Amino acid sequence: MPAASTTRRSRRYSTSLVASLCLVAAIASAQPSVPLADRLAEIAELNQYVPERALPMLQALEQETQAAGGADRAEFLSQLCIAYRKLGNFDRANSSCDELIAFGRSQRDDVALAKGLLDKGDIAFIRGELPESHKLIWEGEKIAARSNNAELRIKALLTSGDAFAEEGNFPLALEHKQTAASIARSSGNQAMLARALNQLVELYIDLHEYDKGFAALEEAYDAAEQTQSVGRIALLKRSEYALARDSGQLKRAREALLASLTGLRKLGAKALIAGTLGNLADSYLKLKDYDNAALYAAKALEAGRALNNTWITAVAHINMGEAQIGKGRIGEGKRLAEEGLAMIEKAGDKPSLQMALLEYGQTLESAGDMAGAIKAYHRERDLSNELFEKRRQKQMFELQAKYDTDKKQQQIELLKRENQVKSAELDNRRLQQRVWWLLALVFALSSVIVGILYRKVRSANAKLEEKNLELKQQSVRDPLTGLYNRRHFQEYMRSYQPLEKRGVGTSGEELVGALFLLDVDQFKHINDSCGHAAGDSVLRAIADCLREILRETDMIVRWGGEEFLAFLPAIPRSGLDEVARRLLAGISSNNIEYQGKPLSANVSIGFAPFPLAPMGEPLSWERAVNLVDMALYLAKAHGRNRAYGVRGFSNFEQTSIEEVEQDLERAWRSEFVDLSIVLGGEWPELRAAG
Ligand code: GH3
Ligand code: MG
Ligand code: MG
Repeated sequence: MPAASTTRRSRRYSTSLVASLCLVAAIASAQPSVPLADRLAEIAELNQYVPERALPMLQALEQETQAAGGADRAEFLSQLCIAYRKLGNFDRANSSCDELIAFGRSQRDDVALAKGLLDKGDIAFIRGELPESHKLIWEGEKIAARSNNAELRIKALLTSGDAFAEEGNFPLALEHKQTAASIARSSGNQAMLARALNQLVELYIDLHEYDKGFAALEEAYDAAEQTQSVGRIALLKRSEYALARDSGQLKRAREALLASLTGLRKLGAKALIAGTLGNLADSYLKLKDYDNAALYAAKALEAGRALNNTWITAVAHINMGEAQIGKGRIGEGKRLAEEGLAMIEKAGDKPSLQMALLEYGQTLESAGDMAGAIKAYHRERDLSNELFEKRRQKQMFELQAKYDTDKKQQQIELLKRENQVKSAELDNRRLQQRVWWLLALVFALSSVIVGILYRKVRSANAKLEEKNLELKQQSVRDPLTGLYNRRHFQEYMRSYQPLEKRGVGTSGEELVGALFLLDVDQFKHINDSCGHAAGDSVLRAIADCLREILRETDMIVRWGGEEFLAFLPAIPRSGLDEVARRLLAGISSNNIEYQGKPLSANVSIGFAPFPLAPMGEPLSWERAVNLVDMALYLAKAHGRNRAYGVRGFSNFEQTSIEEVEQDLERAWRSEFVDLSIVLGGEWPELRAAG
């Protein structure tokens, strides 16, 4: 069986070849006079084929690249990561990649970041962490695509092409690798072109598209030759071997291997030489050249042991065994092959063990050991079933995990939506609360304002009422004396309804209303001699005197300048004279003092009962007052300080009220009117007849 294949998986495990160019480079990289970037480029080339030699060279540059920083440091870390990976030290490879990623992020260096991600993706793949690997690679490719570094873009396309192939998406894998080759072609980068075409060859082998594989191989040789790299050509020879072997050209396959071996030997790439020796043994086995097969298997065994490489050693055992079986030494052969199978089984590499068992069974079958062949096939079947079951379980597990993730995602989405709804509700409630608070505030404020306005209006109303009262008082009262004014009396009389019968007083006599009109005698004289203010004092004193003499129920009015009217609503008919007397006496005996000076005044009075009905028909109050005024006039004319009262009417059929009104004195003398006379200052009551 082949010890090394050119598939993606083995390519990543494989140690590689060294170009003669690199040997020269290795010497140059030790010269500090050569710029650091150039030395790193040389080590990178070497790293492709002989990582075990590139690694110590890189390690020696640790401090120098640290000091240099920038692109040199990024390239150093990238190469360190690749070297560790190729040598199987995945932990260190990973930490170098992490350092590179961190460096790329901190320096905002997309090239470094993309390289770090792609290399880390490769390591994850080798460790069997496929989803993580692809995630890293897609991310790295995205960053690489926006850079204008052609080499990085080619690297990214090739790596992502691998990832697509691993997912079984061969059309996309092919597209990526072809794009990588086109970029290399147009950028004239022959080394990258050879690498891209070599990977296309591997892909065509997987796709069984051998013609296309050979065409790509031819172009790859042209490119590699231009780079004058023996290592690169040795790698292409290895691809040619696989292509020829799988397309049934066994001799061409062997020739390619031999040519590859020659190149590898020139370069001293020990691990790859060991693998190639194993492949050569396999190649001779397929050509049924068992001597050469045994020879190369023995050489592979020796190289495998020297490298302490279990896989090469185990395959060498199997190939040696198969060569012995081919030669007819079945027992010896089976022992060797079983030893190799046991080594693979111990390493736990079940897929390889299955492949080895199948080939072992075929060898035994063609050697005629049917029992042995069946046993080998049974083991292969069991393993196949076990692997199938494992794969199925893994797929189930992955499916379950995916389902769980989807479900979780759905739940998260649901929760998110629920949260959104809740927070919207909360916002709504908050808004509502705010609106309520605002309304409450507006309400409180308007209540306060209304309250203030209400109080203002109330106090304004109170003031208005006060003013109104004042005005009303002013409108009904005389300001000097405080007595009712003439207008008020007129209004009062307009609504006055004289009662049919006023009843009787305490003496059993009939009660009547009465009008008294008073005029101050010679008042002008007081004004003239003592001043107008003294006149006012006299008027006030007379008003006080009237209030005192008359009852509260009597209406006292300031009728004019120095004239007063009193309306007594209920008085015994014979009591009118007595009232007149009291008035005359009260006023004249009243001691008035003005500025320390004593003053006195008399009045003349006209009076009559009210209502008056000379013809049975009551006179209007105006006419009654007019008649009383005429009586007053008579009192003035007959000497003042006296009162004349209309007591009654007689023989009225011989005269008329108009005539009486025109001349009261004549009517009195003609005895149409009966007058009573009360003199002031004296007490005799005169009863005069006209
Ligand atoms: P008689 O005895 O004929 O009534 O004489 P008299 O002077 O009282 O009458 P007359 O009508 O000639 O004069 C009245 C005077 O009263 C004239 C006027 O200046 C005065 N008078 C009227 N009103 C007031 C007032 O309110 N205050 C004062 N001080 N004098 C007034
Ligand atoms: Mg007068
Ligand atoms: Mg007068």
